[in-house]
Amino acid sequence: MYKKINKEEIVKKLDGKSSISKWYDWKWQLKHSIKDIETLESVFDVELDAKDKKSMQKTIEQFPFAATPYYLSLIDIGDYKNDPVYKQAVPDIEELNLTNCDMSDPLHEDHDSPVPGITHRYPDRVLLLVSNVCSMYCRHCTRKRKVGDMDNIPDKETIMNGIEYIKSHTEIRDVLLSGGDPFLLSDDYLDWILSEVKKIPHVEVIRIGTRTPVVLPQRITDNLINVLKKHHPIWINTHFNHPKEFTEESKKSISRLADAGIPLGNQSVLLSRVNDCPKIMKKLVHNLVANRIRPYYLYQCDLSEGLSHFRTPVGKGIEIIESLIGHTSGFAIPRYVIDAPGGGGKIPVMPSYLISWSQNKVILRNYEGVITTYREPDNYKTQLCDDDCDNCNLHLNLDGVVDYNSVGITKLLSDTNDDISLTPDNNQRIERREGEETENEDKIEKISNSIVHHGKNNNRVYLMKLDHTDVPHIFTSLYDLAYKNRYGKIIAKVPTTSYGYFLENDYIREAHVPGFFKNGENLYFMSKYLNENRKNEPYEEIIESVLYNSKNVDTYNLRKLADQFKIRVCGESDIEEMASLYEKVFETYPFPIHDENYILETMRENVIYFGVWHDDQLVALSSSETDRENMTSEMTDFATDSEYRKTGLASLLLKAMEVELKKRNFRILYTIARARSQGMNKAFARNKYEYTGTLTNNTNIFGNVESMNVWYKNIL
Ligand SMILES: *Cc1c(COP(=O)(O)O)cnc(C)c1O
Repeated sequence: MYKKINKEEIVKKLDGKSSISKWYDWKWQLKHSIKDIETLESVFDVELDAKDKKSMQKTIEQFPFAATPYYLSLIDIGDYKNDPVYKQAVPDIEELNLTNCDMSDPLHEDHDSPVPGITHRYPDRVLLLVSNVCSMYCRHCTRKRKVGDMDNIPDKETIMNGIEYIKSHTEIRDVLLSGGDPFLLSDDYLDWILSEVKKIPHVEVIRIGTRTPVVLPQRITDNLINVLKKHHPIWINTHFNHPKEFTEESKKSISRLADAGIPLGNQSVLLSRVNDCPKIMKKLVHNLVANRIRPYYLYQCDLSEGLSHFRTPVGKGIEIIESLIGHTSGFAIPRYVIDAPGGGGKIPVMPSYLISWSQNKVILRNYEGVITTYREPDNYKTQLCDDDCDNCNLHLNLDGVVDYNSVGITKLLSDTNDDISLTPDNNQRIERREGEETENEDKIEKISNSIVHHGKNNNRVYLMKLDHTDVPHIFTSLYDLAYKNRYGKIIAKVPTTSYGYFLENDYIREAHVPGFFKNGENLYFMSKYLNENRKNEPYEEIIESVLYNSKNVDTYNLRKLADQFKIRVCGESDIEEMASLYEKVFETYPFPIHDENYILETMRENVIYFGVWHDDQLVALSSSETDRENMTSEMTDFATDSEYRKTGLASLLLKAMEVELKKRNFRILYTIARARSQGMNKAFARNKYEYTGTLTNNTNIFGNVESMNVWYKNIL
């Protein structure tokens, strides 16, 4: 039998003189919050077991107790121990059970806090803590460690510092006011905070997280609504956990907010014995949407201290989501998330609907268990995105789009980013492999008077310098060397006079550089494959598309870029900074380019390094490997700090390199660029280099043998 406590009786008990009208005054509710066991007993009109009382008291000493008379009035006195409101509001001895996975700050909110009161975890939005008090201390609060911590009440100065932080970070477009409960601040104070945040030009939306509609609906007054309306666009997320929390009063407060044009969302926490039931959840989300609140998140209970008795297995959440998707309105389904311990942010989890996948078919299952096939298109035209929005043929009006840098899987999916894997720091496997690689490093050797480079790393023989006296006997030597070591490819750089011999010996021409040698002869890249696999290009379509896009690009207005950056030839005093940028950009590289000694040696020998600085910080590098005999130079080792990665800087570097090399009387510039790198190929095309061919499966970069494009430019 549902037994309710009568409002009038509560008012009388708590505040003898007052009439029931006081009930509707939020300040009265706050002032008469129940904070001790005796008052609780009196309000409930029950006598708690002495043992229960003692343990409750012990809990309160660790985690304070407070609940509004309104919220407690929802409890069914007849069965209070099983009541979901009681469980959320009243201390339980189980809170003192610490398990070994409990943490005081599982979400690392304090670690991700650049200034007090700010948690900056995601690229474009921050949490601003504006209050640390609540009208009710939820027993399942993730910030239990902060509850009632009087030393941590953010004052005006702290909040202002947070606002200054937001001002100086133009990437922040969404500010979440949180706490504590921001609605426990006075209207005027809230008005001040909202005005200050609103003044920041790059802030597009303000969000407020509040549980007052659930635990103190009286707070949503006309005056508060008027304050909020001044600062649109304002979004509000509230926190209903159980259908029972919908009352006439909470519904009225919600409808005032909705009528003020505020989009409303709800963040529930999955709690054992409170709402860990598909039927309760379905009723809850139906109540939410019927009251114009969109279910936003369903949280897996965090690993904060004192919450172990509330936690459910993740499977319970997935089961709940399974019972919702397809079975009810799409907009009634929250996203079930686990807030990653250690500060990784919210990670969505859900049942799997993708059952299998082949080259052109996807097998899916629906909510009823029907298994279905989706046939993928055969004629989809690969569209590579090179992040060059100015020249995009989709004709989007992208004015003012921030050039953002992708991270995570998005980065791996990107067509312009060269990274092929994400590897955690201190990965033992990679460390082991690096040890091996030095042993396996390709060797430079002499065959008669010619120089070859060969080894397992690139799995090929590379004839770097052919001496004409070695033709034709060198063909047998090259082949034997490759055959014996089971290399897949021989590649030779040869001048015009030897070109015919290589053709006769079944070498194919892959690329060339006209007029490369000082006597005017051309340089040819001649290849022979020892197996079909090595000859096969797996990325043919992509490589074609990269070239197509490169050749059809407008010339670039570099002047705008040049104004923002400083470019110059690097000197020996720059080496430390250079090594650390190379180290940061290239996890692995064919040469020890992040080694300061290596840079110094090459700098003293034949390599000219170029750097781009932004605000005194080195952000991009490249090098010119010169051949003074022929007065040619290979343009190579391009590296851009990931925060500055866009095609512009490579183009800018190339331009500056050309100017410098021309001054030093070099004649021919060329490059061997990764064939799949849209950014690099475009940069050479923009600087009017000419493409002469692709060296198939030629060079090991980042652990894989890749095809390379040859581009050259005569600057005489
Ligand atoms: C949840 C959260 C946000 C907001 O995330 P959304 O997915 O945009 O709702 C921002 N910052 C922190 C620290 C958060 O925990």
